[in-house]
Amino acid sequence: MDIYETLKEEAWEANMEIPRLHLAIYTWGNVSAFDTQRAVFAIKPSGVPYDKLDAASMVVVDLDGKTVSGSLNPSSDTETHRVLYREFPGIGGITHTHSAYAAGWAQAGKSVPVFGTTHADHGAETIPCTPFMNAEAVRNNYELETGNLIVKTFREAEKDPGNMPMVLVAGHGPFTWGKNAAQSVYHAAVLEEVCKMALFTVTINPASPPLPEHLIRKHWERKHGPNAYYGQK
Ligand SMILES: [Zn+2]
Repeated sequence: MDIYETLKEEAWEANMEIPRLHLAIYTWGNVSAFDTQRAVFAIKPSGVPYDKLDAASMVVVDLDGKTVSGSLNPSSDTETHRVLYREFPGIGGITHTHSAYAAGWAQAGKSVPVFGTTHADHGAETIPCTPFMNAEAVRNNYELETGNLIVKTFREAEKDPGNMPMVLVAGHGPFTWGKNAAQSVYHAAVLEEVCKMALFTVTINPASPPLPEHLIRKHWERKHGPNAYYGQK
């Protein structure tokens, strides 16, 4: 009996959503699922195509970076996931993709303003884009420093990762998180759609203003506020 069976199952199912939602091709992208009690996460193995994955191939890693279960090498982005689980307590899943619209904004080094209600439903603020990583950080430990760069970007902008579950890493692509692995994939899909809409917005009118604050608040709060009423009771 594998004590990590449920966690690996959760990670595998969430990873399989990546090709299904067309968020990555080939072996690109990765999802992890966090077990708060045991302080470990299950993540996709490195370089294995999605159609060759199964729950048993997921690799379980602790918050010191040690593999505690699994025979394959974990995703090359494992260190980024590890930093985010350590520094953003409360998150239960992380997704990384190179989905084209989100990667487009990341490559342009542009944060995504709240142009419409689709964005406001999922975050009442700009989706931040980090600065480019400097040469020393790349030399030091690229994947770990990617995590540090995300954390620094959130701290400096005084952003709460509980309210903004998405980030663009400059020149690279998106990382998203959520209360579990499935929600982190959901946020990756939402981010892709929001980035696509934002591109249309600035293409049609480069001077498009952000959504007025009263509409941002309305859409955020009807889903997430103290008197939220969206959906079924
Ligand atoms: Zn990547």
